[in-house]
Amino acid sequence: MATDSWVNESLYAEWGQRFLVKRELARVKSGFQDIMVFESYTHGRVMLLDGVVQITEADEFVYQEMLTHVPLLAHGAAKRVLIIGAGDGGVLRRVLQHRNVERAVMVEIDGEVIRLAKEHLPGIAGDAWNDPRAEVIVGDGIDYVRQAPAASFDVVIVDSTDPIGVGEVLFTEEFYANAARLLSERGLIVNQCGVPFMQADELRDTNLRRAKAFPDTHAYVAAVPTYVGGFMTLGWAAKDASLRQVGVEEIRARAQAAGVLGTTRYWTPEIHVGAFHLPPYIAAALAG
Ligand code: SAM
Repeated sequence: MATDSWVNESLYAEWGQRFLVKRELARVKSGFQDIMVFESYTHGRVMLLDGVVQITEADEFVYQEMLTHVPLLAHGAAKRVLIIGAGDGGVLRRVLQHRNVERAVMVEIDGEVIRLAKEHLPGIAGDAWNDPRAEVIVGDGIDYVRQAPAASFDVVIVDSTDPIGVGEVLFTEEFYANAARLLSERGLIVNQCGVPFMQADELRDTNLRRAKAFPDTHAYVAAVPTYVGGFMTLGWAAKDASLRQVGVEEIRARAQAAGVLGTTRYWTPEIHVGAFHLPPYIAAALAG
């Protein structure tokens, strides 16, 4: 990838976005995927896995804040958090912002993603890697959830690639059954479920599988500019349906107590509550 050449995202065969490359920073074939990091003219540094945009410095806050603050504040007293994937460290950083979190375990399959993120995207995780509450494991998320003791976590956050290749196991019935087992009584799990305008099947199929293990399943939305095609959906599965009905003022009070209020650029208490109200085309995709 030469300077001032275009890189085309390969997510969809017939349509996509492209970036003009200012400077290539890394191109590595790991044991799991092709990793590419480059400096763009428009979005800061960008990481691609197998040709698909995972993160850009410019808009990572949208996705990371919604994937982290919504489940933690909906729960309200999460102390033990399991993160699957998320090798760039951005979710870990947001989780550790919450004062009440005592332990955050992150399980990422590809150590090269972590290494390259530390080297080329250091601002995404900040100091999170060195936080004494953090435990970073290089391993497969499906193996970790199989072995984790019952009721050992309060919240699970899955920041994975799409359900192809190594990420596929994280969307299976077996994964959700184990997630339900390792979560505590009021536990919940969220995961990235793609852009339903383009990937409606991903949302519907994942929701059907989650519903076999959890009494309350739903989805909420976030507008991430580089996950192109309109709103992206974040999947939600909880043991207690009241968790997604917490009102704006209670969420604001929890965010204040957690040390999160006023630190965000996308998440607000109003957006938190509003994100669960789905446009009809997304509600239809969710229902199948
Ligand atoms: N935010 C991005 C998105 O939605 O497109 C995804 C972030 S990327 C850091 C996702 C990470 O999940 C990758 O680093 C990948 O290696 C990891 N991953 C995929 N399958 C995994 C598995 N089975 N266990 C643990 N991590 C996995």
